[in-house]
Amino acid sequence: MHEMWCGPDTSGQRVWHILTTDKTGTLCGAERQEDPRRQDPTDKHCLPCMTTFQAVVQTR
Ligand SMILES: [Zn+2]
Repeated sequence: MHEMWCGPDTSGQRVWHILTTDKTGTLCGAERQEDPRRQDPTDKHCLPCMTTFQAVVQTR
C-alpha cells in the first residue's frame, strides 16, 4: 500500500508525492523531510511520482 506525502518538488512547490512501500522515500526520489512551514493545502500531484506509480501498478 502506498501512502501520500505532501512536500516540495524540485522547484520548491508543494505537491503530493507517493511514498515507497517501505516509506523511506518517495517514488520520484525526492528526499522525504518534514516541512516546518505552514502546511498549505494543495491538490497538485508530483508528476514523476504518478508516472512511476502507474508503472509499478501495471507490472503487478
Ligand atoms: Zn514525487
